[in-house]
Amino acid sequence: MLQGIGVSPGLGIAQAVIYQQKKPVISAVKLEAEAVETEINKFKQAQAEAKQELLQIKKKVLQTAGKEKADIIEAQIMFLEDPAVADEIINLIKNGYNSAYSANQVIEAQAQMFENLPVPEMQERAVDMRDMGRRLINILLGRKEVNLSEITGDVVLIAHDLTPSDTAQLSKDKVAGIVTEVGSRTSHTAILARSLGIPAVVGIPGIVEQVGPGDLVVVDGNSGEVHVNPDQLKLNSFKKKREKLAFEQKELESLVNKEAVTANGIPVRIAANIGKLSDIIEAKKVGVREIGLFRTEFLYMDRNSLPSEEEQYRAYKQVVEAFPERVIIRTLDIGGDKELPYLKQAKELNPFLGKRAIRLTLAEKDLFKIQLRAILRASRHGNVGIMFPMIATMDELLAAKKLLEEVRAELETEGVVLTNPVEVGMMIETPAAALTADLFAKEVDFFSIGTNDLIQYTMAADRMNEQVAYLYQPTHPAITRLLEKVVQAAHAAGIWVGMCGEMAGNPQLTEHLLKLGLDELSMTRGAVLKVKQKVRQITL
Ligand code: PEP
Ligand code: MG
Repeated sequence: MLQGIGVSPGLGIAQAVIYQQKKPVISAVKLEAEAVETEINKFKQAQAEAKQELLQIKKKVLQTAGKEKADIIEAQIMFLEDPAVADEIINLIKNGYNSAYSANQVIEAQAQMFENLPVPEMQERAVDMRDMGRRLINILLGRKEVNLSEITGDVVLIAHDLTPSDTAQLSKDKVAGIVTEVGSRTSHTAILARSLGIPAVVGIPGIVEQVGPGDLVVVDGNSGEVHVNPDQLKLNSFKKKREKLAFEQKELESLVNKEAVTANGIPVRIAANIGKLSDIIEAKKVGVREIGLFRTEFLYMDRNSLPSEEEQYRAYKQVVEAFPERVIIRTLDIGGDKELPYLKQAKELNPFLGKRAIRLTLAEKDLFKIQLRAILRASRHGNVGIMFPMIATMDELLAAKKLLEEVRAELETEGVVLTNPVEVGMMIETPAAALTADLFAKEVDFFSIGTNDLIQYTMAADRMNEQVAYLYQPTHPAITRLLEKVVQAAHAAGIWVGMCGEMAGNPQLTEHLLKLGLDELSMTRGAVLKVKQKVRQITL
């Protein structure tokens, strides 16, 4: 048994195929002056050919894995066509070097530049750059590689690493599993494997040497275990497990379009939490019809400046149109573990107890108003709720509501007609808010309980610190009492109350939460079908 990191769930059992791309030898050849022009043309032709190949792959990925994954290939086309890169290559050729060498020099330098950036997403770009380069250079050298799309039969693919374009050519009916020596959960290869539904394990150094072609390999993409030539007894138990997993998966998938109702017919609202626009497709895939928490801070992160009102408006509109039933948009929650490099935030000793979420946005009114304008404008396209995070005092809630009304009035004087009602709610994630929920309930249309923070603040246990993880107890009586209090306060005032913390997505707690009287459970899309399955088994 070899232990790696499971990056794409499922169990694959098949004979190994070792996929080893030999690195081409690229030597510098000094060109005669008259050969320069021919070599430049050769480069341009190869560039066009590589583009055609990438367009083909992109088309395939678009069909099998969707737009976001196809963008990974699109990025390679952009690198290939980047005029700065092409000019540099042509310059080297003009200096008398052959095209393959020139391309390799320039592309490798670019890749290294990406690799040295401190941001993981940018480092991943180095992989895409080199992947594009390999294709281009192979064409220049007239080199043919093993074509992964031509794999026949059921195999487990073993490789040092797979590039995104390699992975994109695989299909689930031919490849039972993937094992690589390097890689991470967030690498594009892992992301593609997940969206293709192929079980994958990465991070087993030396596996290319340890496994021979034809060895029987079991890949467990959940546990990260890889078994090579297991004995008959073990093999049988893996096959049983594979059957069970496949059966469970089928059962879950059969629930996509079924209603979330308890065994005795009580409907339960199940919603999804999203952060990025790409989550829309993923949430739709599991049959989600409403969003209980849109974490807008992700629109503000991984960039160098604030997103404009227009940009935010377009993003919110896209989500609102995708989920006509209801979308709850949470205003910016920055601070704690989330920082914006372009917002000068003072260093704090206890950032989770510091200037976070509503505390920050109320202090940065210009920024806050831009977001509120964008949300209100988007509300014209569907059913929108706004909620404020981290409320602890009535003053905060009233200040936020006042600002919202100001913004509404401004928009109306500008001629923007806002006819759709917008529900205004707040998150209950401080013990202060939970204990005074009866007072807050008179001022809002709904509550959404953020247990990730509510537990952290109630138990005085940092949600990021694994040393105190044992204190992170969703069913501690203190938490249960707070939840009871909040639900009772909401219902006494005639408003609805949902939960959007991680706890809402734990099927083992579904019955507990429904019995407490929560009106909506909002969770990561990966939990939706499991919770729905649970709901359908419960009698309330
Ligand atoms: C929560 O605190 O439970 C919550 C949903 O908000 P976040 O996880 O974004 O802090
Ligand atoms: Mg929170």
